[in-house]
Amino acid sequence: MQLVSRSDLGWGASGADAANPTRGLVIHYDGSNQGLADKKHSACVSYWKSTRDFHVNTNGWADIGYSYGACPHGYVFEGRGLKKYQAAQGTTAGNRDWYSVTLMSGPSEKPPGAQINAVRELRGYLMERGVAGTLRGHRDFASTTCPGDILYRLVQDGTFSRKGDRKDDDMPEHRRYRGRDLSVRIPRGEWRYVPFNQRGADRLDTFDYSVAFGPVQFVASVGIRLTGLAPGAEVQLRAVEVTGSGDDWEIAQSYAINSPQHTNAGGHFTHTWNGNCVDGNRLRFYVTHFSNGDQPVVLESSDASVHTWSY
Ligand SMILES: [Zn+2]
Ligand SMILES: [Zn+2]
Repeated sequence: MQLVSRSDLGWGASGADAANPTRGLVIHYDGSNQGLADKKHSACVSYWKSTRDFHVNTNGWADIGYSYGACPHGYVFEGRGLKKYQAAQGTTAGNRDWYSVTLMSGPSEKPPGAQINAVRELRGYLMERGVAGTLRGHRDFASTTCPGDILYRLVQDGTFSRKGDRKDDDMPEHRRYRGRDLSVRIPRGEWRYVPFNQRGADRLDTFDYSVAFGPVQFVASVGIRLTGLAPGAEVQLRAVEVTGSGDDWEIAQSYAINSPQHTNAGGHFTHTWNGNCVDGNRLRFYVTHFSNGDQPVVLESSDASVHTWSY
């Protein structure tokens, strides 16, 4: 969910009374058409601020009346936010037991897909916090035209109740790394970082080791090919977070060791880890082996596929 928080708006904590709405979410509109879908998003920010100004300074309310707003560009604006009474549904129980969201639009405005998705994501966000998924229109609580026939139909036909598709902030970044003609000799029992000399389509002049940079959540797969292993030799692969700079790196965290045995698969080993790489740390792969053969063991090639999500 793309949330515009109170602090983004320069607002302090809401002065509204505490409550614990759990019954669902009520849809509202503005009595007159606003045309925000055809304007820049900054117009939504101005709209939200002037709505609060009107509710506080003209109506004399403790804060903006609504829990949330959803704009046509797909942003959810924080109003009173979580666990507050509202001045929206027109009844004490309605304001105490239900959350509210206004679509900042008037009677003849059809919400664009991004705005519908914002309502769906807000509903999901509240459900993750123990609120029922039930949706209502303001007119289910009081004698009013709100939220208008267009939005009320979307409440009734289940359009707003579908699952939102997360995007933008929630999309992972994907990177590929490749190492070719590496010729990195690995003595028995000594650990080496897995190097790469190609990142995406770019060839690198020097070896690159770090594949993710905290703070990120990651899913990281690595594949390596080793030559010279004796039959049955154990190989150990780890994902590690390192901290440091320049040539001076130390391991800050180690993920579960993968210990495959060399059979006849051409010395090729792959494994996948997931986790959180914390702020300041970098993710690398680490490898050793316990081969007793006569041949030197050489890391010939590497491939990595890494998805990261910022948090
Ligand atoms: Zn309303
Ligand atoms: Zn907007």
